[in-house]
Amino acid sequence: MITSKRLQEIPPSGTVAISNLVSKMKAEGADIVSFSMGEPDFSTPSNIADACVESLRSGFTHYTPSTGIPELRKAVADYSRSKNGIPCDASNVLITPTKQALFMIALAYLDPGDEVLLPDPSWVSYEAHIRMTGAVPKYVTTSFDDGFVIDPEKVEAAATSKTKMVVINSPSNPTGCVQPESTIKGIADICVDRDIYALSDEIYENVIYGGRHVSIASMPGMFDRTITVSGLSKTYAMTGWRLGWAIAPAQDIVAINKLQSHSITCCTSFTQPAAVEAITGPQEEKDRMVETFRKRRDLALDLISEIPQLECNVPEGAFYLFPRCSIDMPSNELAERLLKEAKVAVTPGRAFGPAGEGFFRISYATGEDQIREGLSRIKKALASM
Ligand code: PMP
Ligand code: GLU
Repeated sequence: MITSKRLQEIPPSGTVAISNLVSKMKAEGADIVSFSMGEPDFSTPSNIADACVESLRSGFTHYTPSTGIPELRKAVADYSRSKNGIPCDASNVLITPTKQALFMIALAYLDPGDEVLLPDPSWVSYEAHIRMTGAVPKYVTTSFDDGFVIDPEKVEAAATSKTKMVVINSPSNPTGCVQPESTIKGIADICVDRDIYALSDEIYENVIYGGRHVSIASMPGMFDRTITVSGLSKTYAMTGWRLGWAIAPAQDIVAINKLQSHSITCCTSFTQPAAVEAITGPQEEKDRMVETFRKRRDLALDLISEIPQLECNVPEGAFYLFPRCSIDMPSNELAERLLKEAKVAVTPGRAFGPAGEGFFRISYATGEDQIREGLSRIKKALASM
């Protein structure tokens, strides 16, 4: 097999690999409880689906401008300005799937040898994107005991003259931590002082139960040095739609759009008017979904508190729990044994960086029955290990 040296450096996505394996095992008839995939189990709200069908039937089936339809760029800008205080307009918005946005941003901003600071643990694909450009990921450790809050002093200590960018993701995948305003401000000050870009992944911005979501792009001096990404997947149960956005200074959007125009050209056309409906239409269903996630979180935390080998923080956002496991076993092996012996799929903590060792991730974006059954299986399995 011939692949580029660049690709040989990179493992497949740990989260996607486990979910693929679970789909295959389920298709073969295995009785698996899946806590692996980070996606809402709800259907997309019907007002959004109806808007999509209407646009498809009306013949809105051709290429759109590569940056996205103007109505959607404006809706995203209005929303981000009014909800998150980001001083943007439509010219600052590129419509693109969130993961594609992150990949293109790495290609657009990073050169070989540049250093990028990112929290440890953090979501699996940042490191891959950074490595693909020849830049160097440098982890800034966060800890269970501090609730996985980033310490700006550690960011400062890790920064060098080669540091180009710092990645933040609040609420966090995999820890659910909502970074406090003081932390975001501390990181913003470092970016301004040291002339560093911030890449702020805010895809879980609406899945929040406590704390307050703060966009670093709203901080003084930050808009011109921040790329904010977010999207519809998690807020409106729209993972399969592949629709999100990047917000950046207008000339940066022009640059990132070069990559979009040479790769996917534009997002799917008929989904874009439906995205306008998602953002500007009724929000009650979204609120109901978040309330359901909160109940599931509390249920899962109660059940975990009865498992002697596990210890877990109370996360304020996203739909993940990241328990610490006292069994002395690599997290990859633990996840493999839970899948084989207990028929429960979790994501090993190590997939999210070195500080994830000794942990595993539970996605509780699944029904209460599954949460009860899965945690009862985990309890039995851990007792016998
Ligand atoms: N960022 C984070 C932190 C995520 O968990 C995900 C997972 N889907 C993404 C980005 C990518 O989002 P999308 O699937 O909407 O591209
Ligand atoms: N973000 C989700 C997860 O962490 C989906 C898979 C992925 O994109 O990594 O499970």
